Amino acid sequence: MNHLYQYSTMGALVGGLFEGTFKMSEVLKSGNYGIGTMDGLDGELIIIEGKPYLIESNGNIREVDAEERTPFASMIEFKPTHTLNYKEILNKEQMDEIILEEIEGMNYFHAVKITGKFKLIKARAVKKQKKPYPKLVEAVKEQGYFDYTDTTGTLFGFYTPHFIQGVGVGGYHVHYLSDDGKEGGHVFDYEIEDVSVEMALAEDLILKMPETETYRQNDLNNPDMLKDIEASE
Ligand SMILES: [Zn+2]
Repeated sequence: MNHLYQYSTMGALVGGLFEGTFKMSEVLKSGNYGIGTMDGLDGELIIIEGKPYLIESNGNIREVDAEERTPFASMIEFKPTHTLNYKEILNKEQMDEIILEEIEGMNYFHAVKITGKFKLIKARAVKKQKKPYPKLVEAVKEQGYFDYTDTTGTLFGFYTPHFIQGVGVGGYHVHYLSDDGKEGGHVFDYEIEDVSVEMALAEDLILKMPETETYRQNDLNNPDMLKDIEASE
């Protein structure tokens, strides 16, 4: 069985709880693949084969230290149950549909890993915020945007059922890192060229809440949360 570990929630991020609360060394114990962001909503985190990398808003990419902390991450010990191979150009929308159908995953969390050649990757990366932290809708207004063409690498992320919006982001949330470690980010569109698509359903979810004073003191029951998530994506 594949367990999905979720560290904090979208609801908390929407409310501006950007402070890193979970140590990377702890997070890495729950899986070898994952995505997230770092302290202060700093960039786009991707964990590949147990190694965490951060794509910063200026496009710089670096390895993340075990002592650094994340405010939000999703992790899985990735054991694919379905694999498909494609040697044709298909876009994100087409792939999302194919994956969802193949894995019958609409009502489950699932993980997706696409490796190989991409014709196009359209990515962005959130910018590190300063205290006092703004709400997410404000924080995402200034981001780095990157277009990569003819790139080889790993796209990894999760599907969250839309009825669980607020714990995660409903639908697909995927990050990318090229094999040379120079290109990556939060992917909002892509075109595959010659890739392998691996998938795994997560039959359960382990949700880790931050054990901090800030988390205890903030009322995150925001009636506009769903609207805010939509506006931030
Ligand atoms: Zn992201």
